[in-house]
Amino acid sequence: MPSPRLRFAPSPNGRLHLGHAYSALLNAEIARALHGEVLLRIEDIDPVRCRPDLTEALIADLAWLGLTYPDPVWRQSARMSTYRAALDGLWARGLIYPCTCTRREIQAAAGHTRDPDGASLYPGTCRGRPVPDAPHAWRLDMKRALALCPGPFSYTAFAPGAPDAVRVAHPARWGDAVLGRKDVPTSYHLAVVLDDAAQGITHVVRGQDLEAATDLHVLLQRLLGLPTPRYHHHGLIRDEAGEKLSKSLRSEALAALREQGVSAGEVRARLGFGDRTMSG
Ligand code: GLU
Repeated sequence: MPSPRLRFAPSPNGRLHLGHAYSALLNAEIARALHGEVLLRIEDIDPVRCRPDLTEALIADLAWLGLTYPDPVWRQSARMSTYRAALDGLWARGLIYPCTCTRREIQAAAGHTRDPDGASLYPGTCRGRPVPDAPHAWRLDMKRALALCPGPFSYTAFAPGAPDAVRVAHPARWGDAVLGRKDVPTSYHLAVVLDDAAQGITHVVRGQDLEAATDLHVLLQRLLGLPTPRYHHHGLIRDEAGEKLSKSLRSEALAALREQGVSAGEVRARLGFGDRTMSG
């Protein structure tokens, strides 16, 4: 059994808020219970929205909370050649195709079916077309992928203090998902699957908003010959009384709280971690 390894994987497109703090603290707490470690991964594939100064601020905010991570901190922006090689491999196997469609074109051509994120399911307009000169994204050919890997798909869901559960995954509901964007040779889905494997992640602890994406990730892992980690998708953060934190508080930046004189210990307590996350 490899030793337990988790990751906290924020995108530096804004300041860290309480929702991030909860996820980071929960990762630390679960890692401690498993006698494992947590790595920090900066998910900065978006060259416009992700800024280096926000990455530095994020690392400082985490340190203020009492969370430090082994060096070197992994940055996805430095991994583009690896992502491109993975796309090349999928293209050589006929599993992706170039797509020039704009969001508006997709909306006009798509039916009513939506993917789990609420976006129109891609109608397949560009499937089978040659590689264009114009900027293009790369889409998974879901039908061919499922012909190659027919499933069934499942993964292990774990939760602290609860028995493991098998979750059935339905990747087809994502349709021909984007694996390479027009501006960078990856998408969140491709990069996260490659990096979880490359970093030897055994346990993924992340928000429930990404639970549906795991269905697609399990298929990509199968196609790429990568292991599937165990997953825990945590719910919305709650305050110490067990109430859901109000949306405004949840999105409160840690930096703003610090400026108001709130201490890191108070933030941890407020999120239900007390001071036990600080030992070890
Ligand atoms: N970068 C993603 C986010 O900030 C998290 C990705 C993940 O944990 O898989 O929402």
